Amino acid sequence: MKRNWKALLVLTIVTFLMIVTGAAGALADTAVFYARVAKLYMEEPHSKIKMPVEDVAKREVTDTWHAPRSGGRQHEGQDIFAPRGTRILSATNGYVYKIGENNLGGHTVSVISSGGRVYYYAHLDSYAPGLEVGDRVTTRTLLGFVGTTGNAQGTPPHLHFGVYDFSGAINPLPLITDRTAPTVTRTTPEPAPRRRNQDRRITSRVRVS
Ligand SMILES: [Zn+2]
Repeated sequence: MKRNWKALLVLTIVTFLMIVTGAAGALADTAVFYARVAKLYMEEPHSKIKMPVEDVAKREVTDTWHAPRSGGRQHEGQDIFAPRGTRILSATNGYVYKIGENNLGGHTVSVISSGGRVYYYAHLDSYAPGLEVGDRVTTRTLLGFVGTTGNAQGTPPHLHFGVYDFSGAINPLPLITDRTAPTVTRTTPEPAPRRRNQDRRITSRVRVS
C-alpha cells in the first residue's frame, strides 16, 4: 500500500510538470521519459554540483543571489562570466527537460535531476549540436556555449545559472564545486559510473532517433 501511495504522488507531480512545462509534446517516448524522471524524484537532491562553465573557478563568481534587478525583481540565480563561446557543461546528471527561448533568458536549457530539481542555463550563445529534450546528461555533457542572448544583450557574456526546487529558486552558489580540485586535498575517488546498461541503451536510442 505504501508503494502505491508513493507511485500516485509521483504520478501527480509528473502530470503537473507535464502541464506546466508543455515538455511532453516534444517527446516521442513520453512514458519512458517520465518513468525516468519519476525515478529521479525518489532520489535526494544533490548537495554538491559541478561548476557549469569550463575553466572558471568558484572563487571567481561574485555572489549576486537576490541582488536587485529591473522591474523590482530579485536575481534568482548566479551569473558566471566567461568569454563568448566558452563551453557550458551540465552541473549534474539528469535529463534535458526543456530547450527553448524566452525574453529574459534568451537561449535556455533546463535539466531535471535528483529530487525533481531543475537546473536552468540561460543567455546561451548557441546550443550543443544535436542536444534534444529527453537526452540523458552527465557532468561531462556539453549543453551549449556562453553568450548574451535574452536580457543579457549589451552585458559581458555570462551564463545565468538557476536552480529550482518545489519551493522556487534556491541559491546555486553554495552547491557549486570546482571541476578540478587540487590533488592534495582530494581524499575520495570519483564514484564509479552506475547503470552502464542503461547508458548504452539510451545512447543507442539517441543515435537512431
Ligand atoms: Zn543572471
